[in-house]
Amino acid sequence: MSTTHTIGLDLGGTFLKAGVVSEDGTILERIRYAVDPSSAEKVFKTVGEAVGACRDIDRCLVAVGLGIPGIMDHGTHVIMNSPNLHCLDGRALDDLMKDVCPLPYALDNDANCGAYGEFVAGAGRGTTGSFVLLTIGTGVGGGIILDGALWHGARGFAGEPGHVVIERDGRPCNCGGRGCLETRVSAGAVVAAYESRGGRAASAEEVARRAHGGEGAAVEALADVGRDLGLGLAAIINLLNPEVIAVGGGVMGAGELLLGPARVEAGVRAFRASFLSTRIVEATLQNDAGMVGAGLMARGVIQ
Ligand SMILES: [Zn+2]
Repeated sequence: MSTTHTIGLDLGGTFLKAGVVSEDGTILERIRYAVDPSSAEKVFKTVGEAVGACRDIDRCLVAVGLGIPGIMDHGTHVIMNSPNLHCLDGRALDDLMKDVCPLPYALDNDANCGAYGEFVAGAGRGTTGSFVLLTIGTGVGGGIILDGALWHGARGFAGEPGHVVIERDGRPCNCGGRGCLETRVSAGAVVAAYESRGGRAASAEEVARRAHGGEGAAVEALADVGRDLGLGLAAIINLLNPEVIAVGGGVMGAGELLLGPARVEAGVRAFRASFLSTRIVEATLQNDAGMVGAGLMARGVIQ
C-alpha cells in the first residue's frame, strides 16, 4: 500500500495551525493562519482555506483531523463551551465542516489530540496500551489513552486531570470549583510559590531560568509546586496505573526541578507496585502535539 498523509489542524483562539502529517506523525509541511473569532462561519472559512492549501502542497491527502479548543459532545459534535472561541458555543461542528472540508474528517478537543499525538509519536512512542498526558500552562489540560484508544467517557468529557480536587476548601478554580489540581499546579502557581518565598518574577519561565541558575528560592518554589503535582499523579496512578504519564506545557522548562519532586511525592502517595510500573516523563512534542495528534487521528476515519 502506498504511503498516505493526512492533514492535522490545531485550532486555537488566535491561530489555526495546519500541517501535512505522515503515517509516523512527522510534520512534513506546516502553515499558520490568524483566526477571526467574531463568527463560527469565519473560523471555518479559515479551516477550509487551510485544507485547500495543504491539498495544493500534497495532492494525495486522504483525511483531515481537527482539534477544537473547548468541550465537545463526542456523540453529536456539538460544542458545549469554548472559552477561547465563544462563537463556537452551542454549534454543531458537522454543519460547519461539511461546507468547507471535502475530505473525510475526525474531530476531537485539542487536549485529546495532544494526548494522542504524544502517545503515538512522542513520549508514549512504543507504549502499547495506556498513557496519560498532563499539559501545564495557564491551566492544566490533558487526555487519557486506554487500550490504545482515547478515553472519552460517556459523552466525551473525560480527561480533565486539572480538575481532580486535591484540597477540600482550596483556592477558587477557573472551573467554578475549589481546590482543583490546577489551582496548585499552573504557571501562575509557580510564580505565586516563588513570591511566597520573597522572589519576584514575571513568568514561570523566569522562575525556571533562575532555578536552573541555582537560586534557592526558585528551586524551592518549583519543588513545592512539584509536590502538589505529585498528588495529582498519585491519583492518576492509583486510578489507572498507566504505562506512561507524560507532563508537558509551558512550565516544563523547569524539567526535573519540577518533575523530580513530583515523582517522589507520587511514590509516597500511590500504591507502590502501581507507582513502580508507571513511568513519569517529560512530553516531547511541545506545541506540535495537537497538530500531530489530529493528523494521526484522521487515519481512523480512512481505515
Ligand atoms: Zn477546577
